[in-house]
Amino acid sequence: MTLKTVSLLRDLDLYSKDVILSTCSVLKVFYKGDYLFDVENANIFITRRDFFDYHLANRAVEEGARLIEGTSVTGIKETSSGVKVFTGKNVTLPARVVVGADGVYSIVARSLGKRWRREDLSISAISLLSLEDFGGNACGLYFGVVDYGYGWAFPVESSGCLFNVGCGTPLKYSKSLLRAFRRFTRYLGASQHDVYVHLLPTPPRFRRGSFGRGRILLVGDAAGLVDPWLGEGIYYAVKSAFHASRAVLDNLDEGTVIGAYQQLLEEDILPDLKYAYIFRRIFYSKMPEILGLIGRFNRLRRAFTKLLNGELRYRDLAKYYISSNGVISLH
Ligand SMILES: Cc1cc2nc3c(=O)[nH]c(=O)nc-3n(C[C@H](O)[C@H](O)[C@H](O)COP(=O)(O)OP(=O)(O)OC[C@H]3O[C@@H](n4cnc5c(N)ncnc54)[C@H](O)[C@@H]3O)c2cc1C
Repeated sequence: MTLKTVSLLRDLDLYSKDVILSTCSVLKVFYKGDYLFDVENANIFITRRDFFDYHLANRAVEEGARLIEGTSVTGIKETSSGVKVFTGKNVTLPARVVVGADGVYSIVARSLGKRWRREDLSISAISLLSLEDFGGNACGLYFGVVDYGYGWAFPVESSGCLFNVGCGTPLKYSKSLLRAFRRFTRYLGASQHDVYVHLLPTPPRFRRGSFGRGRILLVGDAAGLVDPWLGEGIYYAVKSAFHASRAVLDNLDEGTVIGAYQQLLEEDILPDLKYAYIFRRIFYSKMPEILGLIGRFNRLRRAFTKLLNGELRYRDLAKYYISSNGVISLH
């Protein structure tokens, strides 16, 4: 998680240092196997999803939520007064409102007729690998190992050499992903390993769309709210869930929940995501040149740090004007 995400969790009283396995302060950036530059003060917090998700579930229970385990939602149906939630144990739960936080394969989204197209999805291959330590609290970001995506190596323990290694690319390149991943892990010096694959919604272009209907709201991956360049999704999942809860609390009686939620997303999340999509398109169309400039100019590396730390938004990057002869100025 970036500092941007951790700061949000702190603001919402959802942060626990107990779920943080290690932190990285330096991001080492590579392109096609060559080391390019360090991004200092990167503040990457490494967690394990089972620890983190368990902590969030416990926090919800502490606040009065009822956690039902050992079953899953199989479908939902809108009624005149609310929503029916069907579960795997043939139990139907009545609800006044449903927030679908059920990830990229969301049953809630599908029950609204929303399905991802193949081109809307990215696929990642990941492994836990023993690697030689980078030294100095560092982790690695590797561009040029897959098409229109990147590879990463994050240490999952503060001492030792166990790393979460992965790479992600649009689903249309999935045929070459495993080959690229094997090549990447060989380059990192790792031997045979188990590989897991995951999907992430990162459509080719920004789409405003709708994020629910009536008394049904979608948050996080189910809504497609993910940083399309970095693939950072926890921030947007938490932020959109916060806005969904505000919309529900303030508007349930009037029955205008979806309108209020959509409005909050329009004000807060969507404008910056739009710029993130624009940035991704520009970045991948000129990747070697842009990486070269970031390596050359301290100021651009600091902008990278600020982006990760949440002190700069994608829309602010438009202020960094880089002319063809490499001169950087601020509008
Ligand atoms: C390989 C990979 C690496 C990533 N790395 C990062 C990273 O470093 N930092 C970052 O910020 N983001 C990262 N992301 C993105 C991030 O994981 C997601 O954007 C984020 O988890 C979205 O949260 P969510 O709650 O919307 O969905 P999820 O985290 O997918 O959670 C959905 C939950 O719903 C449950 N569920 C699903 N269907 C049902 C059902 N029918 N009934 C009941 N429960 C159900 C699931 O079990 C799950 O617990 C990564 C994604 C991938 C694929």
